[in-house]
Amino acid sequence: MGRRKSKRKPPSKKKAIQPLDTQFNCPFCNHEKSCEVKMDKSRSTARITCRVCLEDFQTTINLLSEPLDVYNDWIDACENAN
Ligand SMILES: [Zn+2]
Repeated sequence: MGRRKSKRKPPSKKKAIQPLDTQFNCPFCNHEKSCEVKMDKSRSTARITCRVCLEDFQTTINLLSEPLDVYNDWIDACENAN
């Protein structure tokens, strides 16, 4: 007797709703995730813009660059400017 209980598991909807890591906290206005990175790999540039205070920063990237690198560049540039 191979009676199997077929328990249907609903697809587990955990909190995997992490948007792509292209949004970061703004070092200027301190809003959370207000800064969005746009990568333009064909031109080897990336731009990060805060949609709250409209600060922006552009840097060069390579094929391995990630939005986080752009953000870190920005933070570095901010610190160097101070
Ligand atoms: Zn800002």
